[in-house]
Amino acid sequence: MIIKDEIKNLAYEAESSIRPYFDRIDEIAMFNQEKVLDAFIKHGVSEALFNPTTGYGYDDKGREVLDEIYADIFRAEDALVRHNIVNGTHCLAISLFSVLRPGDTLLAATGKPYDTLEEVIGISGSNNGSLKEFGVNYKQVDLINGKVDFEGLKKAITPDVKAVILQRSKGYDWRTTLSCEELGEAISFIKSTKEDAVCIVDNCYGEFTQTTEPTEFGADMVVGSLIKNVGGSLAQSGGYIAGKKKYIELAAYRQTAPGIGKECGATLGQNRFMYQGLFMAPHIVAQALKSAIFCGELLIRMGYEVTPVSSEPRYDIIQAIKFNDSDKLIKFIQGIQKASPVDSYVSPMPWDMPGYQHQVIMAAGTFVSGASIELSADAPIKPPYVAFMQGGITYESARLAIMYAAGEIL
Ligand SMILES: *Cc1c(COP(=O)(O)O)cnc(C)c1O
Repeated sequence: MIIKDEIKNLAYEAESSIRPYFDRIDEIAMFNQEKVLDAFIKHGVSEALFNPTTGYGYDDKGREVLDEIYADIFRAEDALVRHNIVNGTHCLAISLFSVLRPGDTLLAATGKPYDTLEEVIGISGSNNGSLKEFGVNYKQVDLINGKVDFEGLKKAITPDVKAVILQRSKGYDWRTTLSCEELGEAISFIKSTKEDAVCIVDNCYGEFTQTTEPTEFGADMVVGSLIKNVGGSLAQSGGYIAGKKKYIELAAYRQTAPGIGKECGATLGQNRFMYQGLFMAPHIVAQALKSAIFCGELLIRMGYEVTPVSSEPRYDIIQAIKFNDSDKLIKFIQGIQKASPVDSYVSPMPWDMPGYQHQVIMAAGTFVSGASIELSADAPIKPPYVAFMQGGITYESARLAIMYAAGEIL
């Protein structure tokens, strides 16, 4: 891998200037590692919990204890953690369908939810099987300058609003990420207006970036993907929901079947990866955060606009870079792929990815297919041509790949 001298010099300067921010990240990782380790010790994790089960998977102790460990780490009453939740979208769909009934309204309190939820809600796509087809209405209150619009929420929270979805991460938007504290303020406000509104937080990319999680700020259900932060790069697939006991039960009824709920679900030998991944996650998230800061700082020095900038606190692992040019955007993303440990010889191209309304280009030279806790970068092909880079399971490897990709657009 040839890294241009000019990039090496810029990288050296960038790294010297961001060192102070790394200390804060290490502190957060230390705090979260203790939370995780404490939960493992409290529940007496042993090798027996990693044994595979098959068939119905009754009495899978490993599955049951992992749910309890997640509940503890999220300071929640209960959790549902399953390797056969296929991705974050599936997990969010489970949570939405589990609480919404015909005639109810879903309110999005932080603007339009993540792209792949559009078809789930029924605001784009075929509408087959969407919430809309089941008679669930939808409305949204946009953020104002990246902040929750409390006035707008007040007007939107009508008696038919059964559930409210809030998204912590920026997703594919050029906005700041919401902190747990900001989400908490919004949740308190929603609850003060309508006490029984179920607050669902899309926590994808947010876990372990702070010392708290949205469940500690009143969220009823917090949802995420195991091939992002909490899977620690080892979970091979899966999703989790943590929250209030009665909602976790509803979610489990939706994920399997009413009456079956959490009682079934063979883990097929996936437990070890889910346990070890969770154990690794605080550290891996810290690696990803450092990689994101490095990327942002290097690209600022090359003249690009980025969000967040190095000095800002981070509540997700995403680094957005505005290229204003589709050619540069594509070259950068292809550069990340070329410097990846897996499939480095592949050149990603924009394609019509299921669930997305624009063509998307995606670099993910990852050990777990498409896992975006590993270094990955993606972008919808639309102005202003923003790349969203995230992950990096070692800072060293991510740093090299970012330098290589930056060289491609010099
Ligand atoms: C990744 C992500 C999702 C879910 O996406 P999947 O690709 O289905 O896992 C939802 N919301 C946000 C904010 C995300 O980052």
